[in-house]
Amino acid sequence: MACCDDTCAPFDGASPAYRRALLAVIAINATMFATEVAAGLGASSRALLADALDFAGDAATYTITLWAIGRPLRTRATAALLKGLSLALMALWVLATTAWQVVVQGMPRAEVMGVIGLLALAANLASVLILVRWKDGDANVRSVWLCSRNDAIGNVAVIAAAGGVWVTARAWPDLVVAAAMAGLFLTSSVKIISQAAAELRAAAAAA
Ligand SMILES: [Zn+2]
Repeated sequence: MACCDDTCAPFDGASPAYRRALLAVIAINATMFATEVAAGLGASSRALLADALDFAGDAATYTITLWAIGRPLRTRATAALLKGLSLALMALWVLATTAWQVVVQGMPRAEVMGVIGLLALAANLASVLILVRWKDGDANVRSVWLCSRNDAIGNVAVIAAAGGVWVTARAWPDLVVAAAMAGLFLTSSVKIISQAAAELRAAAAAA
């Protein structure tokens, strides 16, 4: 969940093979973002929408990484600030639609949640396999594993919510998981925003 923030992307190398690896991971994350938003809306699952936030965040992070290689700190910090603000807005939207779902009492489709949750887990594992050979040094390897572990926890939470919806024939497992994930995501968006704002201030002071 909101794992792969700038700690996850510390490469300064810009080899063609590394760029191809990043593009592949961006494509996987962007595709899964679109898939989970469509499935979340189609199957009335807020947990799928909340999990989609992470794919949006990771796609944005890797896109900024690819684009920002060699650019000044102020440019990178501005990109990070925009990323943090748009992720915070999306998290607020997911929280609002989750609250609305409590009122309207829609019933999520557990089987769609389960299948898409498994697909999301596979997509995150594929991203790790693509990126892990680019991680040299202990800290980098560690951050890849922390990111993928957090992403996998999110995917497993969606699958667990699907199981809960299926067993209870109620919507609340979906709503509880969605609110928890979107809340955590909002918290880390605020961290991204304040870190980017601090970097912008530091860049302005240095200029
Ligand atoms: Zn992630």
